[in-house]
Amino acid sequence: MGLTENFTKVTNKMLATGHSAQLVAVTKTVGIDVIEQLYALGQRHFGENRAEVLTEKQAALSERYPDIVWHFIGSLQTRKVKAVLPAATYIHSLDRISLAKEINKRADKESNCFVEVNVAGEANKHGLAPEEVLPFIKQLAPYPNVKVVGLMTMAPFEATEQELHTVFAQLKQLTKDVQALQLKQAPCLEASMGMSNDYPIALQEGATFVRVGTELVTVN
Ligand SMILES: *Cc1c(COP(=O)(O)O)cnc(C)c1O
Repeated sequence: MGLTENFTKVTNKMLATGHSAQLVAVTKTVGIDVIEQLYALGQRHFGENRAEVLTEKQAALSERYPDIVWHFIGSLQTRKVKAVLPAATYIHSLDRISLAKEINKRADKESNCFVEVNVAGEANKHGLAPEEVLPFIKQLAPYPNVKVVGLMTMAPFEATEQELHTVFAQLKQLTKDVQALQLKQAPCLEASMGMSNDYPIALQEGATFVRVGTELVTVN
């Protein structure tokens, strides 16, 4: 299948769920030529997981395609914040106070952040434990440039369908728990969840952003 077929397949699978979300095309494994082709198909949101690559691609494309919206989805080193902030509209991986502090310092306006949650408690994954999320968000008050637009999770790769439903439902519930705090800094209306393996399930559970790479960009 080519890129056009992949794009049609993914968007149709999303439509078939009866729920809508913003598709973030994860282009970390491909070059800017693929981004340009997806752009021509109407895609505007793109995700990258490495700071250098995001800033390079953004710089290469921003003049011709000023309406591309960039998402930083990888784990973010504090020393890379300065470079990532001007390039990315969303950061999906806020997971520690030291990072919030740096974002607050380097940003000249509110920055859209997702707090990353390790819902399933996997040892090898980044993100806060579910019970840490509310206390963490309450601790962000001194960092007003950090705006918690939502929560993000990656589901376990080997989970059953039932387990995936549970993980995504938990993340969605957590967004509502944060909303209930009514913090101006944390509207938390968004849920960034779902990848190639599991985005239809994430949509059913209320994802507002799905991050799809492999299924979209693998051409054969
Ligand atoms: C790579 C990546 C994705 C996309 O995963 P696919 O399985 O290729 O769709 C989504 N989110 C994050 C954080 C990633 O690193």
